[in-house]
Amino acid sequence: MTDNLDFAYRIYYDYQNYLEYSLTNRRVKHSDILPLIDRLREGNIFTVTEAGKSAEGRDIFLIKAGTGKTKVFLWSQMHGDESTATRALFDIFNFFLLKDNYNSFKDTLFDKLTIYFMPMVNPDGAELFKRTNIFDIDINRDFVRLQTPEAKLLKDTFNKINAEFGFNLHDQSILYSAGHNFNTATLSFLAPAFDAEKSVNSVRENSMKLIGSMFNTVNSFIPGHIAKYPDDFEPRAFGDNFQGLGMSTILIESGGWKDDQEKQYIRKLNFITLLIGLKSIAEESYNDVALDIYDSIPFNEKDLMDLVLRNLRYKNNGYEYFVDIGIIRTEINGSLSSEYFVKSSIEEIGDLSILFGYEDLDLMGMEVIPGKTFPEEFSSIEDFKKMNIHSLYADGYTNIILSDNNLNEEITELPINIIKKSKTIDTSIKVGSPANLIIQRENKIIYIVLNGFLYDPSRQTGSIKNGMILH
Ligand SMILES: [Zn+2]
Repeated sequence: MTDNLDFAYRIYYDYQNYLEYSLTNRRVKHSDILPLIDRLREGNIFTVTEAGKSAEGRDIFLIKAGTGKTKVFLWSQMHGDESTATRALFDIFNFFLLKDNYNSFKDTLFDKLTIYFMPMVNPDGAELFKRTNIFDIDINRDFVRLQTPEAKLLKDTFNKINAEFGFNLHDQSILYSAGHNFNTATLSFLAPAFDAEKSVNSVRENSMKLIGSMFNTVNSFIPGHIAKYPDDFEPRAFGDNFQGLGMSTILIESGGWKDDQEKQYIRKLNFITLLIGLKSIAEESYNDVALDIYDSIPFNEKDLMDLVLRNLRYKNNGYEYFVDIGIIRTEINGSLSSEYFVKSSIEEIGDLSILFGYEDLDLMGMEVIPGKTFPEEFSSIEDFKKMNIHSLYADGYTNIILSDNNLNEEITELPINIIKKSKTIDTSIKVGSPANLIIQRENKIIYIVLNGFLYDPSRQTGSIKNGMILH
């Protein structure tokens, strides 16, 4: 077979042939994968079985390919809101299904390996786009007690397969950096420890070498954006226990990438990483990778924020000083779990020189003041919608007063914040408050920040997804 890097570049450029187009965003549900699973039953590549059911009765599938001696087990989405690898697995299924000039590669894989896939271990959590299962139990902390049917199934499947290698596929916060710098930790690996001493035996050594092999290849696509998860022993977790029970286990976490909100690029990187992993196992080439590659991968550090505004002058209570302001946007599920809204908060004020923003602006010479509330109240949302929103923004209005409402939620779908009539709101700039700001130079408004979203009124650029209801 070919060199890993050469192979990786070829599948990188041919990827659109395999992309499963029906999976377009992170909110993948069980009903989205059912027709795709049905397709796998046709032909002779895959054996599909209903391995078990979730607490709410959704089928959890085990998909087998190949007849080789070395068994590999990959499972994804134990955490319902972590779908990046699930989408990549369906791309890999397409790759296996299509007859093309990678056929000899696939034949070698199927000859050397028997590959078992369990995509979407937590379909009930996926339905609500939340981490835990329907009992609110974290499946990945249920290895010992086995109170969730999903954890029981995963452990039973592990026992039946008795694989040599396992891939435990997750998503992590997009706010991790790869070491102390501005590089997002786009992929993070871990060869989990199987004891508190973090011992290394041959099982764990093989996972470290295999990670080294994948790192050596994928780092060419995203140099500096691969990190390593800290290896503190977690006695309740699956990866740590599977490693201890003799399966060389690799944790892969999909993190963040600028302007990739739905993690579609990171999904492509998963596709490449997993195929390189399978290739290295089939060829046993991971054996030749030095252990110090794994050691050299920088750790995950939480050095990122969504938006960092730097060197702003701020007048507050008779003082005047320079500050940086760091803002984080938290995702809130909408009433339909296919939609989401954003709730911003000011995370830190002061010297943020060791932190970095996905959006990061040096605003030297500018002043920050709180966003303003439009003085006239609106009787209804329809009444407000008659206004030209851009001219409101241009005048620094980030909030409106609504007289006719009984809004008790935190979020509004409108791209402006709402204050309920006769409520007094503290709009001062402080940690923990929503990020609603005006940035000006000599009283000319340069930017507004509305619920953590940056908007440039002179160009009318920047998209404000939604506002908050200020209580
Ligand atoms: Zn996870």
